Amino acid sequence: MEKIVSDFFELVKADAISFDERKVADILLRKLEELGCADISEDDTGSRIQGNTGNVFARVPGQLPGAIMFSAHMDRMPNGFGIDPVIEGNVISSKSGTILAADDLGGVAAILDGIRKLKESGKPHCTVEILFTVSEEKGLLGSLNFDYSKISSKIAYALDSPGHIGRILTSSPHSAKLSCEVFGKAAHAGSEPENGKSAAVGAAKILATLREGRLDEESTANFPIVQAGSGATNVVCDHAVINGEARSRDAQKLSDYIQYFEEHCRKTAEEFGVRVETSWKKGTPGFSVPHDSASVRLISKVFEQMGVTPCPEPSGGGMDANRFNMNGLQSVGLATAYFDNHTSNEHVLLDEFLRTGEMVCLAVLEYSQNPEKYNI
Ligand SMILES: [Zn+2]
Repeated sequence: MEKIVSDFFELVKADAISFDERKVADILLRKLEELGCADISEDDTGSRIQGNTGNVFARVPGQLPGAIMFSAHMDRMPNGFGIDPVIEGNVISSKSGTILAADDLGGVAAILDGIRKLKESGKPHCTVEILFTVSEEKGLLGSLNFDYSKISSKIAYALDSPGHIGRILTSSPHSAKLSCEVFGKAAHAGSEPENGKSAAVGAAKILATLREGRLDEESTANFPIVQAGSGATNVVCDHAVINGEARSRDAQKLSDYIQYFEEHCRKTAEEFGVRVETSWKKGTPGFSVPHDSASVRLISKVFEQMGVTPCPEPSGGGMDANRFNMNGLQSVGLATAYFDNHTSNEHVLLDEFLRTGEMVCLAVLEYSQNPEKYNI
């Protein structure tokens, strides 16, 4: 069995979940040591987020100037205990009805394999920085708490995306949680309904005329949570709540939508005769890395060397790359040949997965040989 596959199997068989990545981190601390990495450390993020594991960081010191970073996350979604990975033909899946946790231990194994291949190549290279984060699935908490002053790279690749090798995620939407509380007037529903004003009907009117779903090519909104009433049918409903979210790759469009949402709720409520209180909370800021930027050009060059077609495209979700970009690293996501992540159908295409280490190794060498081409 190839080393990348045996590493991957060992990692997914170690039971772990967000806030409890201990077993995975312990394996990685050992493997990084075996690979001859330097500055191996685990930070104190675990105690800050009430978990038991910190972000694991390491460096492969280079003989050439410059540095480049690779990252993946150690946590996984629920239903990830007792994973039993099997290879059937070209597909790796779990035969125990669990997720496979290739999101994101596939990314972790790819980085380890890349370092191994780099060492085996014997070629001079720049410094490589490696970051394995915790609790990515819980709101990018590991990358939120990491101390970026440790990093000297300007480019960081997050190996954390479903899809075929060659897929490059160059943007991620800005998002916000939106809420509207509707206040009506309670009254006995049988004896004096005319003295009441239904918050439930008010909420329905607001929702029925609210622009949502796909707003435009890069913006969406969704209001799936509606709560109303106290459970009794003999009283006119005096309180209802609508909760949802909006996303856009354009920060201004998101701000505009929030403003529209607040106005729409207020106007509709006024017309109907109820009162509303709206609130919103911005989520993780998104990012957008242009297709002609250094990080995209570099990895595209690598894919060309591998005979793989580079596919830069937007992502609909968030990842650690969101936080890396906020912290001065130019960062995009890279796919590592897993599919249907977050479900029990999660699987990996073996032939493509076997090439992910090569992708990492070639990226280091491409940067090492041409640092001036990828200056930021
Ligand atoms: Zn992930």
